[in-house]
This record gives sequence, C-alpha cells and structure tokens, in this order.
Amino acid sequence: MLQRRKSAIHTPIHILVNPGLATSWLILEINSMDFRFSDEHKMILEYGNSLAKTYDRKYWTQCAERRAFPQEMYQQTAADGFVGTMVPEAYGGAGLGMFEMTLFVEGLSNNGIPLLTYVIGSVMCMGPIGDYGTEEQKQRYLPDACAGKTRFCFAITEADAGTNTMNAKTFASKTKDGRYKLNGNKTFITDWGESDYAIVVSRTTSLADAGKKTEGFTLFIVDTKAKGIECQPIPTSVLVPEMQYQVFFDDVDLGPEDVLGEVDKGFNILFECLNPERIIVSAIGTGLGRFAMSKAVEYASERTVFKGPIGAYQALQHPLAKAKTEIEMASLMSLKAAWLFDEGESCAAEANMAKYAAAEASIHAVDASLQCFGGNGFTKEYGIYDIYPLVRLFKTAPLNNEMVLNYIGEHVMGLPRSY
Ligand SMILES: Cc1cc2nc3c(=O)[nH]c(=O)nc-3n(C[C@H](O)[C@H](O)[C@H](O)COP(=O)(O)OP(=O)(O)OC[C@H]3O[C@@H](n4cnc5c(N)ncnc54)[C@H](O)[C@@H]3O)c2cc1C
Repeated sequence: MLQRRKSAIHTPIHILVNPGLATSWLILEINSMDFRFSDEHKMILEYGNSLAKTYDRKYWTQCAERRAFPQEMYQQTAADGFVGTMVPEAYGGAGLGMFEMTLFVEGLSNNGIPLLTYVIGSVMCMGPIGDYGTEEQKQRYLPDACAGKTRFCFAITEADAGTNTMNAKTFASKTKDGRYKLNGNKTFITDWGESDYAIVVSRTTSLADAGKKTEGFTLFIVDTKAKGIECQPIPTSVLVPEMQYQVFFDDVDLGPEDVLGEVDKGFNILFECLNPERIIVSAIGTGLGRFAMSKAVEYASERTVFKGPIGAYQALQHPLAKAKTEIEMASLMSLKAAWLFDEGESCAAEANMAKYAAAEASIHAVDASLQCFGGNGFTKEYGIYDIYPLVRLFKTAPLNNEMVLNYIGEHVMGLPRSY
C-alpha cells in the first residue's frame, strides 16, 4: 500500500548580497533544489514495471481490441492504493499529490498499459471531490471509488460548442423547490456507459446573463444511470479499453447535494480539473513514447539487412535520439507542473507546455520507432502502429495543440488574442 508522503526537508542556504547602492545587506534564502527522486517516488514510478509482469501490453491490447475495461488490472491498482492516490487517507485514498499520480501513470505508460480512467476518474473527479466536496459527498463517493468499486467520468464537451466551452448549452434550471432539472447533451464522454458517476459541467446561468463568460457554470455529480439520461457509444479508431459516448439529458433531477463547489462558480474548480488533466495526459504520452522507443532500440540493435544492425544507421538513430530528448524534456515539464500544482501555485503555463511538448514528442517517438521496424511495425504481432492513434489523439484532445499555443502566446507571452 502507498504511504503518505513525508514532507521533504529542505536546508535553506543563506547568501549575503551587497545590493550596490543600497546601504544594507540583503539575505537571500535559497531552498536547495533536488532533481533526484526519493525512494518512494522511485517505487511509484517503477510500480508499472511490476504490474506489467501480470498485466502486460498484450493483456491491455486484448482488452482494448474488445473494448472491454481491464477490470482485474484496475482492481489490482486500486488494492495497491493508486486509484485514490490524490484522495485524503480519511476517505480511503493515499493522501498524496499530483506529482505521485504523474509518476504512477508515467510508469504504467512506460510499459504500454495506460488507462484514461486514471485521467478522468482519479485525477479530474476524485481529486477535486476530495479537495472541494462536502463532507457528505466525500464520504458517499470516495471510499468506494478508491477501492475500485465505483468509477467516475468527466463530461464537458458538447457537439455544438466544441473547443469553445463558453458556448456550452447544457443547462440546469432551478425548480420551485430548490432542485434542478438538467437538460442538454455531451459528446465523446469517455467511459460514461460503464462509469457509475460523472462530473457534468453545466450552465446554471446563461452566457447572456453571466457577468463574465466563465461565470454561470456549475459542476454536478451525476448518477450516470439516473432517470432522463440516455447514452450512445461513439465508435472511434483510438485503441483504448474505454469507450466514448454521446450523452443526452432530459429533465434529469438533481439537488443541491449534487453540486460540487459553488453554484455558478464551477470554473473555480474546473481549472483544478483541466490543468491536472493536461499534466497526466503528458505523462501518458511520454510513457508511451518511451515504450515505443524501447521496443525500437531492442529491434534495431538486432535486425541486420546489410552490414551490421540497422540501429547503427544514423537515419534511424538520430530521429530516435531526437525523440528521446524531446520525451525527457516533456517529462521534466510535466513533473514541474505537477509539483507546482501540489505546492498550490499556478501551473497553467507549465501544464499547457507539458501537454504540447508531450503530444509532439510522443508522435515523433512512435513515428521514429515505426520506421525502425519496417513492415513489421504495422503487424499486430509487433503492435507498434497500434500505439500511434492514442498519442496522436493528444494533439487534438483533451485540448487541441492550437488552443494550447493560443494560451501560451496570449497568457504566458502577452501576445494579442486571435479568436
Ligand atoms: C477519444 C476521445 C476521448 C474524449 N474524452 C472526453 C471526455 O472524457 N470528456 C469530455 O468532455 N470530452 C472528451 N473528448 C472531447 C475532446 O476534448 C474534444 O474532441 C476536443 O476538445 C476538441 O473539440 P472538438 O472535437 O469539438 O473540435 P473543434 O472545436 O471542432 O475543433 C476542431 C479543430 O479546430 C482547431 N481549432 C479550434 N479552435 C481553434 C482556435 N481558437 N485556434 C486555432 N485552432 C482552433 C483545432 O485544430 C481543432 O482540432 C474526447 C475526444 C476523443 C476523440
């Protein structure tokens, strides 16, 4: 079982600085920086290696091809304390943070066995419920979710609004008795049909009436099987065990007890879901990039068609080395973003950069690996091409790279807005 992290002990270094014209000396306190992982962090990162001895890429692929959720593997990670990594211990979790969650998911992805459920359930729903839920919500939802008995999904995307979330039309109107009727639809919702609960992002005040366009949104915890809800699977070509669904809400009855956080102030919490989502998606991308490259290195070191192994050809070696460099840089940025999140500091710039970098790097990594395998890369036996759709997805979803660059250009660099 995971143990709560012991707070790191930093030894501050005091430096005396003569500030030139100023009359007094300044004392700067510098906290030492350490890029080494603690033993516990190494253990979390390496957990995927031991899990893959039982639930390997072959098992994962068989589940994904049948679109069957890998229940045994999920159950094992729940029993080992990882599903509830970010949930306080009092509610069945490990009481750790985004940093540990990132290491866990990256370690699984290094072995080619990522699950989107850890993104949408563990990170985007269970973490925020632990941080912002009422006592009753925490007790009601978290222990079972941490134990792997129930699952959560997250619904924000709407077909007509697309990337422009502000235009979302799903609406929860207040009834005379202080309850809500939810109407509207969501699309591409991963795992809705198999999940027990969802966090649904809904307007409770229309865009026209909201003071600011980010106001008027409320997050509801919704029973996915509630009366008035219908869902239809959307067949996609991305090889993952989880299915995507279109979801329709017709007068779904919700109460104040289903509101996560404050009515009309959902965006305050939403950013606590979306930045972590970008970080954890980066971890999947960098892990899968490493997985593809490790297969390529093994293959290219053996395969000989002219003189010597093909891995000696710089035409194959340099794209791999370049992708390896990009992957490690993206990984560093995702860990920095995770660390900032845990410190309670803004991580939006880093989370977006990590997501952008990981999406690009993992595409390059899989492509470079594929080239090493020649025709074998496209066979089911070697399974390299099968890795591609998921890493390519990350260029488009959860947020397309163009919007990520818009954010960096506008909010990080101060350039004018284009849209
Ligand atoms: C497999 C899968 C799983 C998903 N899981 C979930 C989930 O669990 N929950 C959920 O809520 N959603 C989920 N989604 C939805 C996903 O987040 C959206 O598909 C994604 O945000 C893009 O929205 P869109 O498809 O409407 O594209 P659109 O908004 O139609 O955009 C199309 C393209 O236009 C470009 N573009 C758009 N706006 C701009 C701009 N301002 N500047 C420059 N270029 C721009 C981008 O290149 C973008 O790719 C999932 C999607 C997929 C495919």
